[in-house]
Order: sequence, then structure tokens, then C-alpha cells
Amino acid sequence: MLRDPYGRLVDYLRVSVTDRCDLRCVYCMPPEGIPLKPVSEILTYDELIRTVRVAASLGVRKVRVTGGEPLVRRGIVSFVRRVAGIRGIRDLGMTTNGTALSGMAVPLRQAGLSRVNISLDTIRRDRYAEITRRDALPKVIEGIEAAIRAGLSPVKINVVLLHGLLRSEVDDFFTMAREMPVKVRFIERMPIGCSPSEGYVSAAGIRERILSLPGVREERNGASSAAVTFEVPGFAGRLGIISPVSWKFCSDCNRLRVTADGRLRTCLFGRETLDLRGVLRSGRGDDAVADLFREAVRTKPQGHDLCAGGDVPSPAEPMSRVGG
Ligand code: SAM
Ligand code: SF4
Repeated sequence: MLRDPYGRLVDYLRVSVTDRCDLRCVYCMPPEGIPLKPVSEILTYDELIRTVRVAASLGVRKVRVTGGEPLVRRGIVSFVRRVAGIRGIRDLGMTTNGTALSGMAVPLRQAGLSRVNISLDTIRRDRYAEITRRDALPKVIEGIEAAIRAGLSPVKINVVLLHGLLRSEVDDFFTMAREMPVKVRFIERMPIGCSPSEGYVSAAGIRERILSLPGVREERNGASSAAVTFEVPGFAGRLGIISPVSWKFCSDCNRLRVTADGRLRTCLFGRETLDLRGVLRSGRGDDAVADLFREAVRTKPQGHDLCAGGDVPSPAEPMSRVGG
């Protein structure tokens, strides 16, 4: 088992499989994209599988595949099948922008993917094109419908709260949660990525609006969790709020991240990473990989110091490389 010096059990690995993406979300990438790592520096699928296998042998039970955009990497369905087959992995999810999901939801489900988080910050086509710099909203909606039909569960919709979000756009998401079996989660933008110190919007206003829905019931997922879920009578889905900035959730943090270029990251906001790729390519055995995981857990910081509008750390590196 991987337990850190603060008593947290680390059993969750987020794996970024690529730094490439077909969208250019304003808060994540500049219009021209970020300088991409050479392919030789990106971990191969075999290296990623070895990493997950070793992590599973140390007690990791939950894996989320992310990016960049994971669905743009060729061979992703076979990779998912291989991860799902690793002994010890009980929960396999993916975070995607959903643009390619409509044709891939069934193969991914059959390969062993259980759940999917789809990033969608508005359901208005013109606003979507402004935010992502691509006119891809219809494809994403098709992707969400395909994910539900394929039996991926839960299907979560991640909405990053952006300046200028209209009341009517929030209503659109309420309607989506009423009509579709999805969990719509409003997420505070974090000071990382493009223009990191601009555009923080607290989730407090959305929370008030959710609490004004008739019969709404609130569940906090764990005493100190940043995630709150709301059940609303008559809704097929649910609503939720994640406040990483105004509500620190470090005390519950159970995760490590593998970046696309093969570094182990112990905190989304930390600067320190461990050189996983170097170890994987050193010719040493799995013990060396396991030792690196132990070191990562031993040095995992107790918390980060984000505070809304106050001291904001400069971004450690682009979110598209780290994986959200
Ligand atoms: N491309 C995939 C996607 O968009 O779902 C996976 C990678 S993306 C970096 C993962 C998540 O990070 C997305 O939900 C995105 O909205 C979120 N994200 C990116 N930059 C963010 C920021 N500054 N604050 C909060 N969330 C952010
Ligand atoms: Fe691409 Fe996801 Fe970043 Fe948007 S948030 S640019 S979809 S990696």
C-alpha cells in the first residue's frame, strides 16, 4: 500500500497519454497550441502499461486516462483494454473533451472503460466556439448521448466556471441534468494554464441558484471534500460543485499523476516531478519503478497554497501536458 507521511492512502493514478489536443480552450492553451514534446519523449503504451502494472502491485486501484485529448492518440481503445486487464485495477475512467466520443463510446465501453468525464463549458454553439476556438459543439453533444447509450456510468459533465457565464447558460446545464442521466459539475477555474491569474469565478453564486431549486438535497462527498452533489426531485441526473480554490481538498488527495512525457507528479500545483521515463528507459527492473512510486508518495506535499484572488503560484506547466 502507498500511504504518505500525512496518512493519506494513495490509490488513484491519473495518466496523461498525450500532450496533443484538437481544441484550444482559452484557459488551457494559446491559439497556436503549446510547443509539443517530441514523440520520442512521450511514453509508449508499453511503458504506460508497465507503469500502471507496477502501481497496481503497490495498491493503486483507480486509473483515469487523460491528456491533452486522450481520444486523439491512435490505439487508445487497445490501451484502455490493456489497462482494464491489469490485476488490481477496479475503476477505469477517462476525461475527454468528447469531440470524438460518438464513434468511440461503444468500443471504449467494450474495452473496459467504466466511466467518463466530458468537459463542456457552455451549451451555446457560438460561446463554445469562442471558448474552445473550434465549432465542435454538435459533435460533443453526440458524444455525450453516445456515452449514455453505451452504458458508460457515470457520465459526468465538467463545466469550468468562466467570466461572462450567462444565467441562461447555467439554466441550459440545469435543463441538461433534468433531462439526461448525467452529473453536471461546475468547477472553479484554477490558476494554472493560460492567463492563470485572470478569470477566477467563485462557485458560490451557482450554489445559491442550485439551492433555490425546489426540493433540492445536498450531499457532501466526505467531510472535507471539495465536491458537493445535489439531488433535485424530477431530475434524471444530478448537479455538483467542485471548489478546488475556495475549498482546499488536499487533506483528501489520494492521487498521483503521470505526465505525457513520463514524469510522476505528486501535486497538480507543485513544481517537483520525478523522472519516471528515465527509470523506465534505464534498463532497470520493476523494483526501480516501484521505488520511484514510493519516493513520490513519501515526498507528496501536504497541500497547496492556492487562494482565490490572492497569492497565485505561477503555473507549473500547461494543464494539457499534466492532465486535468
Ligand atoms: N482534453 C481533455 C478534456 O478537456 O477533458 C482532458 C484534459 S483537460 C486538461 C482536463 C480538464 O482540465 C478539463 O475538464 C478542463 O476543463 C480542465 N482544465 C483545464 N485547465 C483548467 C483550469 N485552469 N482550471 C480548471 N480546470 C481546467
Ligand atoms: Fe484540449 Fe482539454 Fe485543454 Fe481544452 S482543456 S485545450 S480540450 S486539453
